[in-house]
Amino acid sequence: MNYCGIKFVGITNIKGDIMDIIIYCSMFAYGICFGSFFNVLVYRIPLILNGSKITTFNESSKCPKCSSKIKFYFNIPVFGWFFLMGKCYDCKSKIAFKYPLFEFLWGVAFIGLYFMTNNVLRSIFYFLLIFLLITLVHVIFNYKQLKNKKS
Ligand SMILES: [Zn+2]
Repeated sequence: MNYCGIKFVGITNIKGDIMDIIIYCSMFAYGICFGSFFNVLVYRIPLILNGSKITTFNESSKCPKCSSKIKFYFNIPVFGWFFLMGKCYDCKSKIAFKYPLFEFLWGVAFIGLYFMTNNVLRSIFYFLLIFLLITLVHVIFNYKQLKNKKS
């Protein structure tokens, strides 16, 4: 039975439902991790292209104001920002809301793609494709903005 998109199922289908919930939760978890990676890429690639000192992607995230390293448990996508209440743990300067927002949206995007395709592999394929495209657009946009600021 399907009512307004909410499934009402008998006992026999509960196993399938739990499987669905596990898949949706893990898709969201992967999605927000990719979102976190997205934030790193669109922030660091334009800086590197503009000749900044940052040369690697594996160095841990730092506060742009006070350069203190962000501890791993505050670096959890989406939730870390809320643990910190949107402020740097050390200098209390504000951390933009766009970071957890983008992470959350990527999580939702992954769930949405799975919902539409109903196929794990296909949703991963579409997700990666969309991820590459949107990351590229953001990198180019941020790069141009940085360049305009410089000149
Ligand atoms: Zn700080």
